[in-house]
Amino acid sequence: MEGGPAAANARESPAQGAVPRVGLAATMQPATSGRKSRPISTFVPSRVGEVWQQVIVVNEHQVNPRVECIHCAHQFSGGVSRIKLHITEQCLSNTATFLGVKEKVKAIAEADKAKKRQKTE
Ligand SMILES: [Zn+2]
Repeated sequence: MEGGPAAANARESPAQGAVPRVGLAATMQPATSGRKSRPISTFVPSRVGEVWQQVIVVNEHQVNPRVECIHCAHQFSGGVSRIKLHITEQCLSNTATFLGVKEKVKAIAEADKAKKRQKTE
């Protein structure tokens, strides 16, 4: 009769090992599908200020809209930092108005960099 309980134990242990695996897969599935359906309406980036005045939003998107530079009509997708980069380094316009704007945006970019530096220190 010694073989009886030992055989039962051997049958039980693989089943126990499988339980956490199934549990993990079950908890991971809602996390990935929840990511897609997650409402992002609560996060609305503020599109105001000197930087946003240099572009027209041509394709609305919650985080990175497609924008068009009012100075050179170049289109690109991105937030405020991309616009700053375009105005200060990539824009081909060289009108007096643009050069004034460029200096302003440069100053804003520098101020933002200084703020970030202060936060990390
Ligand atoms: Zn431009």
